[in-house]
Amino acid sequence: YLISFEGLDGAGKTTQVELLARWLDETERGYIQTREPGGTALGGEIRQLLFHRPDLTIMPLAEAFLFQADRAQHFAAVILPALDAGKVVITDRCFDSSLAYQGAARGVGAELVKHLSLIAIQGRVPDLTILLDLDATKVRERTDHVQDQSGQRGQRSRFDAESEQFHQRLRDEFLALARAEPERIKVIDATQSPERIHREIITLVEQLFSS
Ligand code: C5P
Ligand code: MG
Repeated sequence: YLISFEGLDGAGKTTQVELLARWLDETERGYIQTREPGGTALGGEIRQLLFHRPDLTIMPLAEAFLFQADRAQHFAAVILPALDAGKVVITDRCFDSSLAYQGAARGVGAELVKHLSLIAIQGRVPDLTILLDLDATKVRERTDHVQDQSGQRGQRSRFDAESEQFHQRLRDEFLALARAEPERIKVIDATQSPERIHREIITLVEQLFSS
């Protein structure tokens, strides 16, 4: 099974991926925990280019291709082999992020980004996508303390400077994606406690495993 986590920055995706991984440890199901961008060595380099090179100008379409290159590598080298080996794969972001960020918020266009994404994932859409839904006004307060590996406080990258309007567009798009695919994409209120969110996720994952 392929399970992805989506949502705005600060929604708690990384925390919930960790909690689900610990729960899977106890069930003794084989799994891997990964993320986009940066789930492979090549992806790590792409991540550096995207987030830690403020000297580079990256146009929206070029940015869209960089995320898709990361994803193509991620699926071919990590996700698809793990699924073939019978493992559960949990990933912190996947192609819905590209539909929301590059497709909608950056205006590259839904059709183009969807087409590129389906190529990158070789058609292997997640079985379950957890959308941690957060009000756009909460992004700033919930990401102010965040530190990336670089150790920089506050602003992790040029992406953190985005306006509330940008985050509003993102949220609207994520919710629209969930409405279009209610079987796959499950929306959870990200303002609840981490424990409560985790319990909701476990219920969904147990349903998936028994389906
Ligand atoms: O914490 P995380 O690894 O999710 O951070 C990735 C950054 O890249 C976030 O700031 C997110 O807004 C951005 N992003 C993006 N397009 C994607 C995926 C992530 O702009 N497809
Ligand atoms: Mg995160």
